[in-house]
Amino acid sequence: MSGLSAATGKDHRRRYRVFLISALCAIVVWGSAALSPAHTRHLTDATDERATAHEVAFSHTQPMRKALSAHGLKNELCPDLNDPASVAPLRIEQQAIAATCVIERAGFALVQGHTMKTHAQDSGAQCMWVTREGKAVEPAQQATFNNLSEGMWVCTGVESIWAQRGGTAYGNTFLTPMSRKEFLQRASTTQLMEHEYQHYLQWTLLGDKFATLYALAGSNPCNNVFERTANLDDGGYSCS
Ligand SMILES: [Zn+2]
Repeated sequence: MSGLSAATGKDHRRRYRVFLISALCAIVVWGSAALSPAHTRHLTDATDERATAHEVAFSHTQPMRKALSAHGLKNELCPDLNDPASVAPLRIEQQAIAATCVIERAGFALVQGHTMKTHAQDSGAQCMWVTREGKAVEPAQQATFNNLSEGMWVCTGVESIWAQRGGTAYGNTFLTPMSRKEFLQRASTTQLMEHEYQHYLQWTLLGDKFATLYALAGSNPCNNVFERTANLDDGGYSCS
């Protein structure tokens, strides 16, 4: 071995150490924000959304992760950091890279949601925070609910290609052509929200790959793996 390669090896190890420490610091900051309600009350909306992203990325996604894995998409997912059997074979730097993968995709889902919400509002749509169970939250309570409950932004009255069929989920934002009244008063809002929330979890698990994978899964919702794993009945699809 030459001296050059030994020095390069040292450089690599030093870079790994710096990367690892940075990643761990990010996770600790993220984790403490998610776990300390007294602290998060005083943080900005953006940080609240980061705390929500942490919870969604690390715990809420488990059933969807299993469903997508069972449908042959395991290789598209980040390693499962909640599964000791998945983590054990990874070297420490691989664990740091896996954690970054999980966090980046959860962050992408929120950025995507925020971008589409802003775009819809600029076009005159009305957006509200709706819990996973389909309950709309009053504007004064939205910051609190955004941090403490599972839910999504729902933008109603969206008349554009971005809202297909009854509506389309982009990250944690659901765009629909329905009016606010129509959306809230329909009999199956609870089921629809649960369906769209599953799409949000898919965005969280797959990040910027989701749109392409969804398109490749086909335009027939009855055969599309992402519609099937989000529950076709809840989405209002009649497939025999
Ligand atoms: Zn769907």
